[in-house]
Amino acid sequence: MSASCYCCSGKPFSQCCEIYLSGKAYPNTAEALMRSRYSAYVTGNLPYLRKTWHPDTCPELDSNDLQTRWTRLEVIKSKQGLKKSIVEFKAWFSDEREGGAGSEERALHEISLFKLNKKRWVYVSPLDAWP
Ligand SMILES: [Zn+2]
Repeated sequence: MSASCYCCSGKPFSQCCEIYLSGKAYPNTAEALMRSRYSAYVTGNLPYLRKTWHPDTCPELDSNDLQTRWTRLEVIKSKQGLKKSIVEFKAWFSDEREGGAGSEERALHEISLFKLNKKRWVYVSPLDAWP
């Protein structure tokens, strides 16, 4: 039995994001890509985050981008297009309070734009609203 995937798909990691993170396959939908990018943040896979970011918008990524303690992912809705796709999600994280006063779970709520680049889905940027 392998553990269930970080992206909360309910599937084992070995049959979900690990296939993409290990490079055995590339996600063929924006939602699968988004889920695998979440798992890359959780597992600290910077090369994967770079590979799946549009070259025009990819920032300089370093280990500071991996400090967040992600707890779970909730995909709200996604719209798969031919060249452009949109995924709305909440990525939950644990926010450590100062002075060891426990932690609070908060969510990053984002509507993300994905585009096809060289026949592969890549993350472009957040959107302000559904187009
Ligand atoms: Zn997964």
